[in-house]
Amino acid sequence: MGSVSRRNIIKSLIVAPFAGFAPYLRTAMSDNKERVSPDFEPGYLNLHRTGELKRRGGELWQMMESCELCPRMCGVNKLKGKRGFCGANSRLETASFHPHFGEERPLVGQGGSGTIFMSNCALRCVFCINWEVSQGKDRTPGSIDALANMMLSLQKSGCPNINFVTPTHYSPHILLAVDKAASKGLKVPLVYNTCGWERVEILKILDGIIDIYLPDFKYADGQMASKYSSGAVTYPEITRNALLEMHRQVGVAKPSENGLMRRGLMIRHLVMPNNVSGSKEVIGWIAENLPKDTYLNIMSQYRPAYKASGYPEISRSITREEYQSAVNHAKSAGLTNLEIQGYSW
Ligand code: SF4
Repeated sequence: MGSVSRRNIIKSLIVAPFAGFAPYLRTAMSDNKERVSPDFEPGYLNLHRTGELKRRGGELWQMMESCELCPRMCGVNKLKGKRGFCGANSRLETASFHPHFGEERPLVGQGGSGTIFMSNCALRCVFCINWEVSQGKDRTPGSIDALANMMLSLQKSGCPNINFVTPTHYSPHILLAVDKAASKGLKVPLVYNTCGWERVEILKILDGIIDIYLPDFKYADGQMASKYSSGAVTYPEITRNALLEMHRQVGVAKPSENGLMRRGLMIRHLVMPNNVSGSKEVIGWIAENLPKDTYLNIMSQYRPAYKASGYPEISRSITREEYQSAVNHAKSAGLTNLEIQGYSW
């Protein structure tokens, strides 16, 4: 989590860097009417009305007493202020929030994806491009009310969705904040922008709340995941099960008439040097276990960041041949809903 594949080369693409609830937002916002289709209602609104959304938020909140929100299952009592492997305790910490124009096109629209960067991270990749955020150096204390207000500000500024980056360890806060924001008019889809390493038990609690899952599928080999992502040897198996559950909940991602995504599973795969990510195996598994029109973004932008220079095999960008090989494999496997990036070599 926190790797280039989710927080990819972002900061140069931000149009309105929100340091807080800046006057810019209040004066430049449209009311977003044209971007929120009248015939679409995200699932969380009904769960808000029935009280189920708040109940599930409370259920996740209680899990922080002996935390098992992510596959680390480190069992710390976050409610008593202890920080887990992810670096988080029960106090919300975020790094930034802003419209983001560098995400996948069906998420961006005219207003930019309404991105909220959560601080800290449970996966902790050695090549993380946003390591200040994932390692907890860039973190501002917040509250559930403040998180709700961030969502409402992003919606008001014209963002067609709310995009939670690295949400897992703050899933209780997110649900409770969505519940508050829903009572004040939040109505755009929610994007769960994750490393993919998610417990199915937790995902089931999110069923009907999250509209768009945006997971990475980083590694095919547990030994690679362990080496580069802090001992996460279970990554491939857990992520495969998570992808199946995400697909069960939201199905294939297809844009609506206006080109914007409202619902579905959008998978990202970052091609890494020297086949560290096992691209052919990752792509082959998707082709064999999910519909052929499953959305897959094959990402080319790996750059050695953070501690990657200490690992010679990942201390360079990928070659054109490495990227093309992954793309060719996806096509020959029959995948039809591919996001293929232009060459930057
Ligand atoms: S979310 Fe954090 S505290 Fe909870 S199990 Fe994962 S690493 Fe541990």
